[in-house]
Amino acid sequence: MCENLRVTSDASILHADLDAFYASVEQRDDPRLRGRPVIVGGGVVLACSYEAKACGVKTAMGGRQARVLCPQAIVVEPRMRAYTAASRAVFEVFRQTTPLVEGISIDEAFLDVRGLRKVSGRPADIAAVLRRQVREKTGLPITVGVAPTKFLAKVASAVGKPDGLIVVPVGGELAFLHPLAVERLWGVGPVTSAKLRQFGITTVGRVAGLGEAALVSMLGVAAGRHLHALAHNRDPRPVQAGRRRGSIGAQSALGRTRQSPEAVEATVAALADRVTRRMRSAGRVGRTVMLRLRFADFSRASRSHTIARPTAHTATILEAVRGLLVQAQPEIALRGITLVGISVGNLGDGRSVQLELPFGPASGEELDAALDAVRERFGSSAVTRAALVGRAPSLEMPLLPD
Ligand SMILES: [Mg+2]
Repeated sequence: MCENLRVTSDASILHADLDAFYASVEQRDDPRLRGRPVIVGGGVVLACSYEAKACGVKTAMGGRQARVLCPQAIVVEPRMRAYTAASRAVFEVFRQTTPLVEGISIDEAFLDVRGLRKVSGRPADIAAVLRRQVREKTGLPITVGVAPTKFLAKVASAVGKPDGLIVVPVGGELAFLHPLAVERLWGVGPVTSAKLRQFGITTVGRVAGLGEAALVSMLGVAAGRHLHALAHNRDPRPVQAGRRRGSIGAQSALGRTRQSPEAVEATVAALADRVTRRMRSAGRVGRTVMLRLRFADFSRASRSHTIARPTAHTATILEAVRGLLVQAQPEIALRGITLVGISVGNLGDGRSVQLELPFGPASGEELDAALDAVRERFGSSAVTRAALVGRAPSLEMPLLPD
């Protein structure tokens, strides 16, 4: 009996992701743009419509290259306020669907619809209703993947794009996953993809056929284990509704050799960059900035500063951290620094915060959004702040609890 119950249970995790979000908002609001290639962002491509994607234009591509590929494209400036309003309306539909919503970014979320069968029907029906409601209430196309794990739901929505719905049933996970190209695996960017293809590994099924040890020797410990687990669809993460982490942080070991103040400052800038990027992708803003230091004698110190308005803006957070670093300079000079960490606390929901004015095309938020887009596509090391050029990346690890 128990086994029967397990067999008939449905995949219950939805990954809902708006299609070409910024570009779709532009096409919705200006009928002249509909059915035509649209590029949002003149410098770096922040988003592009499917008509532009058909010419080879991609998110995070340079504007000049995009215009060469697609000379007939219409380039529009981003309107962040319109996108934020659309995001709020879409998340309202998510929350009416189920209380278990985990926002991932401005335009995507995981939803757990387990236990809603009697009220709302099967997960596939719930997903169909959700797509229709988003279309009716916001005029935007959205793709939904339904699967037993978060990872697979996200893969399914990517495969189903645009304006699609894909359901991966319990028991059908590997049959769906294994024929896909390796690039569908979360974490496989151009570098890993090239390495795998060099060994003739082109599909997820081929990755699954390798032992973990072979993958580790090919890609390193972290990436090897990660891909081994994903290729077997091992992803135990639950949907975490309203996850409210107290703070988001990162730290970097500096080693025992004495660092120049400039080197410490460059490390801090890289940490601020990383932390604010994580905040933005989690849709969070924060007010309390903390600098943590460990000295050569293993003693520790921390300093914090609370800024006027919650933000995830890199330059604003970095300015606060630099102020703290200047205050700590005498202590650093005296005791020698071996580890530096920063964290941002007092976190709130970034989607409900009024975006900062002025909102010209060169605003900090748009620069941040452009850099995020480039990194999402090409990996974290693709863009480096000027202060870091020529330095090896320092070892980073998750922030340790106090
Ligand atoms: Mg999207």
